[in-house]
Amino acid sequence: MANSPILSPTDGTLNAAVQALRSGALVAFPTETVYGLGADATDETAVARIFEAKGRPRFNPLISHVADAQSAFSLGDFSPVAKVVAERFWPGPLSIVVKRVTDCPIAWLTSAGLDSIALRVPAHPLAHDLLARADRPIAAPSANRSGRISPTQAEHVASELGDRVEMILDGGPCTVGIESTVVDLSGSSPVLLRLGAVTREMLTEIVGPLREPAVGGPLASPGMMTSHYAPDCPVRLDVAKPIPGEAYLGFGPVPAGENTLSLSVSGDLVEAAANLFQMLRTLDHSAINAIAVAPVPQHGLGAAINDRLHRAAADR
Ligand code: AMP
Ligand code: MG
Repeated sequence: MANSPILSPTDGTLNAAVQALRSGALVAFPTETVYGLGADATDETAVARIFEAKGRPRFNPLISHVADAQSAFSLGDFSPVAKVVAERFWPGPLSIVVKRVTDCPIAWLTSAGLDSIALRVPAHPLAHDLLARADRPIAAPSANRSGRISPTQAEHVASELGDRVEMILDGGPCTVGIESTVVDLSGSSPVLLRLGAVTREMLTEIVGPLREPAVGGPLASPGMMTSHYAPDCPVRLDVAKPIPGEAYLGFGPVPAGENTLSLSVSGDLVEAAANLFQMLRTLDHSAINAIAVAPVPQHGLGAAINDRLHRAAADR
């Protein structure tokens, strides 16, 4: 892709952005916090492209953006208190982690395989317009390459990811300029996962005292998060041939058989990333007691796939 255009918001450019998102492409757009690298949150492959474009060595759960609180309430299980928090701070720079509802359409890769999802209703008018037109959750981490500073102007996105996105919607400089506060309201006691413009004090007024994440402070880097999806079954890595009784998660062509799946028959790492969590879950729920996994190449998205597989294998 050549360097993508920076576009001012018009009826035409917003419709083009929605078309691009619906076809699985990436669109950068402004929010009040930072510019987001957006993809259809319900499309596993589109979300895999986010990780590929960012060059992130790990899959961390992404925030899904929606136009209004009602849309969020249809995707996640909000307690009465969580609803009060949502209504107090949305639209605004707060992301709320809740459990998925049954049949939640958000892709497993968006939540890095977790049963919980992070949701936010941004306050930026352009973001709101885009999300309302898209009429589906849009996953959007900051629109920078992994390890770089978050972009707060369209030009920053162009220099970081200009060749990776379909278009960059220009909404001027971001007013907040730091990432959203993240609060986990999925359990019995609220946890402050990341600090942002919505402060601890503002949240405590509504939910009471907030716990710190189990490991690492609230400002610990996202990749350091310890909570992640791990299958119940033992996982064995770098297996060319499973032993009888093992389910097999291959890469490339695999023999047809029960409890045998391939992350990508053609050896495509984007496809493999898109399938990873879904397939692990499918095999984990099969009537089998171990999962053998084929070697996955370490280049490109392979690094993030292998990182997750190693955690799944180690996590007992
Ligand atoms: P980003 O989308 O890059 O701004 O950052 C997303 C951050 O939100 C992650 O690093 C997590 O801290 C948090 N997050 C998103 N989804 C979840 C989830 N399901 N459970 C816990 N934390 C989450
Ligand atoms: Mg970031």
